[in-house]
Amino acid sequence: MIELEPVIGLETHAELLTESKLWCRCSTRFGQAPNSQTCPVCLGMPGVLPVLNTHALKLALRAALALHCKINRTTFFDRKNYYYPDLPKNYQISQNDCNLGEGGHLDIPCEDGVRRMRIHNVHLEEDAGKNLHAEQAGADYSLVDLNRAGTPLLEIVTEPDMHSVEEADSFMRTLRLVLLYTQVSDCKMQEGSLRFEASISMRPAGTDGLGARVEIKNLNSMRAVRGALAYEIQRQTAVLKEGGAIAQETRLWDEVRERSARMRTKEEAQDYRYFPEPDLLPFEIDREMLERVQASVPEMPLERRHRFCEGFGLSEYDATVLTDQREVADYFEAALGAHDAPKSVANWIINEVLREVNDRKISIEDFEVPPARLAELVRLTDDGTINANVARNIMSKMVQTGKDAPALVEEEGVEQISDESALAPIIEQVIQENPKAVQDYLSGKKQAVGPLVGQVMRATRGRADPKLTNRMLRARLDQMTK
Ligand code: ADP
Ligand code: MG
Ligand code: ZN
Repeated sequence: MIELEPVIGLETHAELLTESKLWCRCSTRFGQAPNSQTCPVCLGMPGVLPVLNTHALKLALRAALALHCKINRTTFFDRKNYYYPDLPKNYQISQNDCNLGEGGHLDIPCEDGVRRMRIHNVHLEEDAGKNLHAEQAGADYSLVDLNRAGTPLLEIVTEPDMHSVEEADSFMRTLRLVLLYTQVSDCKMQEGSLRFEASISMRPAGTDGLGARVEIKNLNSMRAVRGALAYEIQRQTAVLKEGGAIAQETRLWDEVRERSARMRTKEEAQDYRYFPEPDLLPFEIDREMLERVQASVPEMPLERRHRFCEGFGLSEYDATVLTDQREVADYFEAALGAHDAPKSVANWIINEVLREVNDRKISIEDFEVPPARLAELVRLTDDGTINANVARNIMSKMVQTGKDAPALVEEEGVEQISDESALAPIIEQVIQENPKAVQDYLSGKKQAVGPLVGQVMRATRGRADPKLTNRMLRARLDQMTK
């Protein structure tokens, strides 16, 4: 039997991070009272004219450039005609013949290294409103909320370059990071800011033709995409192995029942009667603006991760955690500016700072300890002034009081005791006061040194250098054996 392999292409829709809509000045704020953010333009009243939101154009350009697309500097919009209750104009203004960006790529991490996925095009269009279907059974009406109508939407279309669920997953994650890094979209999937459609076909492994494809809609999370692709791979494989054929069609994913069902046979471009949007003239993107947008494209997450590994000697894991949010990576680099010790700064951020901000569900940007102050704290640990336990306490106090680490260390008198002559008498006393633990140690239970170290820590209010204490205790006890 011949092996089959999946061929997958993704279309991603991302709502752009603008305050106002694409053609009018209505707010794009999420979660407001239904139809409270509408005007004659986005309600599709006759006689109104759209005016392009330049900020949306710049964001779309930034994303296209970050995805290495060639920019069509002279471009225009198309009218895509269809009829649906959430589309009051009965057409969507989109781009079909001349996309903003074309021929780009996105490198994604895969099991066997980095793979390059080609981007067919990136274009700008408007979102539709939302139909709200009555919840109660037997209800015979639906409601329409047009707050979302006219929200700027970026569509990113890949070439059919993915060949497994894992690759599609990695693509989605990487693309999401790019959109977040470039501050093009907030990518909040629970608010519909990031949505996917997947096309999938099967072919004999190792060939390069393309089979009839199925397009799956209604994918509102990455989990849904993974589930739908896995289901479709099984379904198509079974049909083909029985000698059947796959019909080119559009299917809807049912997230609850975890299966897809036919929605309609696939529409063709001609069904939409695309034509150049007559209400908006073709326009030219001037070179200077394009250069400014290009200059605003930040370092991409994967490159940054790579630089953290190569440049700072961090592990792949640490670099991944730190670059998973641009704000965290920025915080890390700002801290390094004040204390150039990448490994210990990374450890502190990953183990202490991120734990704290994640627990409290705040952004690292709102964390009370700014990067330069964290750097001071880490420096005091690295140079042995305080030990790690004390440092953790100091960090809590920094959060509570807003004071800096050196001031708190002095105020609390918690400098580490790393002086042998200061520790020796305390160790003597602890040995005398804990005959049981000493006896255990001497009879071969070496782990009995633990509680003794604990006693020294207690006697010094946590200030003793734990490593030195351990070493001195063992030496003293071993001496007693002789
Ligand atoms: P349409 O214009 O009908 O939406 P496109 O050519 O724009 O079709 O392709 C839409 C998506 O489908 C793209 O992501 C593309 O990579 C993917 N695709 C195209 N052909 C196939 C195929 N045979 N198998 C899987 N995916 C495909
Ligand atoms: Mg399409
Ligand atoms: Zn409006």
